[in-house]
Amino acid sequence: MTLKADFHIHSCLSPCALLTMSPKKIIEVARDLGLNAIAITDHNSSKNNIALKNLFEKYKDFYCLFGMELTVSEEFHTLCLFDNLEAALKFDDMIYNSLPYVKNVPEKMGSQVIVDENDYVVGEVDKYLGIASNYSFEAVYRIVNSLSGVCIPSHIERDFYGVLYQLGYLPPLSYVACEVSYNAFKNASLKTGKTSFKSHDVYIEKIKTSENYISSSDSHNPDDIGRIYLEIEVNKFSLEEIKNSFSKQNYEIILRKF
Ligand SMILES: [Zn+2]
Ligand SMILES: [Zn+2]
Repeated sequence: MTLKADFHIHSCLSPCALLTMSPKKIIEVARDLGLNAIAITDHNSSKNNIALKNLFEKYKDFYCLFGMELTVSEEFHTLCLFDNLEAALKFDDMIYNSLPYVKNVPEKMGSQVIVDENDYVVGEVDKYLGIASNYSFEAVYRIVNSLSGVCIPSHIERDFYGVLYQLGYLPPLSYVACEVSYNAFKNASLKTGKTSFKSHDVYIEKIKTSENYISSSDSHNPDDIGRIYLEIEVNKFSLEEIKNSFSKQNYEIILRKF
């Protein structure tokens, strides 16, 4: 089967995302665009994945991973993805406890809203989530792997919160993939083999990279969902299968051109 996947989406729990980004809305937009797999990856929190799980269980042809975009102590971002909600929530607990206590002031820093599958607000996160955790990247990498998840450094080329800018190198660990941002592909700054064609009323480019680079929308508002996504060949939906396809470069990056 072919997954059309956007694995980097912020919900209304991220202080920098729009309040309209509820899990319900995200799924509606993704399905309208023809995507069949998503991940919700809020800054330093996985709490809106509970609503996501309740929602996606209604669909037979739609899949999700439970994620977080973590700011590690070295001040760069990494995606942490799980296909098991319990593991994602266990990780969420560890991370929340590791965050320094800086009280969120919604009017100044942005809302951090937990919602249910019907868009009802069920809580707000007290600590500010836009701050670095006490965990180093290497510690996080090991914890995520021990919980059968995967660590994918986010937007590695970007000069804010990207690993290469922060450290000057990629820590020597084994990666199934690294994420490169939408803007990098949009500006064609990477060496790629591209084909353009028109499909579903938008022009898209199919991009094959020379390394295991992947991309996703990093959307904070509904309009950006699926602006870049992945077509991944898998036998069935599981994180193991997805990791395997990343390792074998059995995927393509799809850039929508508006
Ligand atoms: Zn980021
Ligand atoms: Zn992000």
